[in-house]
Amino acid sequence: MTQPPVIVWFRRDLRLSDHAALAAAVATGGPVIPVFIHDETVEALGAAPKWRLGEGVRCFAAALEAAGSRLILRRGPALEVLRALVAETGAAAVHWQRVYDRDGIARDRAVKAALTEAGIAARSFPGATLFEPWEVQTGAGGPYRVFTPFWRAIRGRAVAAPLAAPAYLSGPANWPIGDRLDDWAMGASMNRGAAIVARHAVIGEAAARERLGRFLEERLDMYSEGRDLPALNATSGLSENLAWGEISPRQIWHAALRDWQAGRLGAEKFLSELAWRDFAWHLIYHAPDLDRANWRADWDAFPWRGDNADAERWRRGMTGEPFVDAAMREMYVTGRMHNRARMIAASYLTKHLLTDWRVGLNWFATCLTDWDPASNAMGWQWVAGSGPDAAPFFRIFNPATQAAKFDADGAYRRCWIAEGQGAPPMTALSYFRAVPRGSGMAATENYPEPTVILSEGRARALAALGSFGKARGG
Ligand code: FAD
Repeated sequence: MTQPPVIVWFRRDLRLSDHAALAAAVATGGPVIPVFIHDETVEALGAAPKWRLGEGVRCFAAALEAAGSRLILRRGPALEVLRALVAETGAAAVHWQRVYDRDGIARDRAVKAALTEAGIAARSFPGATLFEPWEVQTGAGGPYRVFTPFWRAIRGRAVAAPLAAPAYLSGPANWPIGDRLDDWAMGASMNRGAAIVARHAVIGEAAARERLGRFLEERLDMYSEGRDLPALNATSGLSENLAWGEISPRQIWHAALRDWQAGRLGAEKFLSELAWRDFAWHLIYHAPDLDRANWRADWDAFPWRGDNADAERWRRGMTGEPFVDAAMREMYVTGRMHNRARMIAASYLTKHLLTDWRVGLNWFATCLTDWDPASNAMGWQWVAGSGPDAAPFFRIFNPATQAAKFDADGAYRRCWIAEGQGAPPMTALSYFRAVPRGSGMAATENYPEPTVILSEGRARALAALGSFGKARGG
């Protein structure tokens, strides 16, 4: 008897290898129908993540074709689309890889309940993280709130070995019809920025694997020292691929574990950074509002400023604070920002400009091609002081001293700030080609005066903290 088809619903997991949902579908022996749905969660993405997802889908569709399969694209609410596909194809099961953010969980639960009720086997699988958020628990049986003990809890644990890509994907005799990716116009909100950001994107499973290999071979040894220097290409760049599931954390773990066991410099540090990503998913799973509400509820009373003209200068990379502006422009041009720069740019907004962290979180969600709801929320709340295991608010990064320490020769700032340079590099000029026409910004203009004198911004932030402390009775 021929087996009925299995639909594999791909979301932020655009890969063939180490994909448990796909492997289980192949194991049934039935035809496999890979599907990607442009649902409300895709609709809600910011401009750069949506563009990057579109390019990831394009690349993944090509990889499936090369494996003798196809990626069926459909648009609409996920449950409606899946029901229609089940009816059209006679599929007996729908598989997917689990997500751990609030909206994703709510959608998946509703889909699972409705399909199960209709007699369809709805099966979800792990794979987005090293460990599922509920698998790591404190001695008291609760979630971790502090990274160091979380890391201690997992660093010696066995991480499941990655699965191989299926050797062959059998398809149905009649493929369902799908949309054309170009009709979705996933890059529409990027305007002319898409072509510029595209030069910096490394897209797809094969490219991600190569990126990991090169990083381990060429840069792992200098990772511990180099990872804090934004002018150096010392980190892996893999967040972009992890965000869209083009590589799995288990694949990275096992590749670097060999280096750790061999005693290679940088390997443990690199793996602990990968564990920060797991920690972020752990946090958001256990505190589903992490990306919208202060994790420490008492911070609701903090006198943040809402969106304001200074925040707009921050978004435009025009604060007059060179390290901050370099960071903001790097993100606009490349879709990425160095981790040290993310911390400084976020600290400047929330402390020197006393602006609500959610204003910054939203802009990062618009501009980052590696945007992920968990790491972005954890990063912002960590810097702002409102999150778990956060830096205390009174620890205010001074962008000038940070620049002196981490960009001592000014290479990072020169890379991104054209104004005042006789012959600015292409990177710095490309910012002015990426910003919307009519913004009035030009490389030939004078570099702006500082939005705030650093010492005054710091004093204002500390005064706000003082009044907040008093109001709390602290
Ligand atoms: P590497 O140094 O090569 O590290 C390897 C991997 O470890 C990364 O790919 C990433 O998956 C993980 N990792 C490293 N540092 C962190 C960290 N601090 N938190 C969580 N995971 C980490 N990361 C995102 O992936 N998406 C985001 O939207 C995001 N937003 C951030 C916002 C703020 C305000 C801050 C301070 C940090 C944010 N980060 C985010 C975390 C971090 O900046 C990036 O993961 C890192 O810069 C990615 O570069 P890489 O891949 O070269 O990292």
